[in-house]
Amino acid sequence: MLTIGLTGGIGSGKTTASDEFARLGADVIDTDLLSRALVEPGQPALAEIVAGFGPSVLDGTGHLDRVRLRERIFADPQARRQLEDILHPKIRAAMLERAARSSAPYVVFVIPLLFETGQQALVDRVLLVDVAEDVQRARVAARDGLDTTQITRILQAQTDRATRLANADDVVHNDGSPAELHEAIAELHRKYLDLARQ
Ligand code: ADP
Repeated sequence: MLTIGLTGGIGSGKTTASDEFARLGADVIDTDLLSRALVEPGQPALAEIVAGFGPSVLDGTGHLDRVRLRERIFADPQARRQLEDILHPKIRAAMLERAARSSAPYVVFVIPLLFETGQQALVDRVLLVDVAEDVQRARVAARDGLDTTQITRILQAQTDRATRLANADDVVHNDGSPAELHEAIAELHRKYLDLARQ
């Protein structure tokens, strides 16, 4: 099964692009949902996280306190690696299992933080939705009602555009109209159907 990892910065157009892939018949899977399911109470990954990081990463109801965990790993590369060693094999297994169950010609995994979490290896191809920063800022401001300072802070925490571009297998530029994006996705869809047949 051909697997595509669709990524891009905030407001780049990942949702818009993945909706179009789904409309064309690809199986679109949100990896955030897959990874959240892995750390539900009772799941082995949650027990491993508590064993490694202590019970303070749980909230009052026994669920993972994602904000607190993120704070723990933010400035600590070793803790981050430890968490990734727990989660990535399980995320990979869940993705493979989900792809194996699919009856679509190919699968698109939406992975917003693909580069930040080094998840390139989990998919056959990385597809980047790329957008110029001024366009990105305008769309995020319109969609989320954030001010310039808030948007700058988010952008600075994300992988920069040049690094994304250098590491993507396929790039769709989303500076134009929605119709132009749809046309670019249709072209990629044809390419992925060809690759899936090979
Ligand atoms: P992401 O999922 O990457 O955060 P979205 O798909 O939600 O990005 O797009 C961000 C915002 O920009 C949304 O409000 C969306 O409707 C809008 N948008 C996306 N692509 C275009 C486009 N080509 N032209 C105009 N608006 C767009």
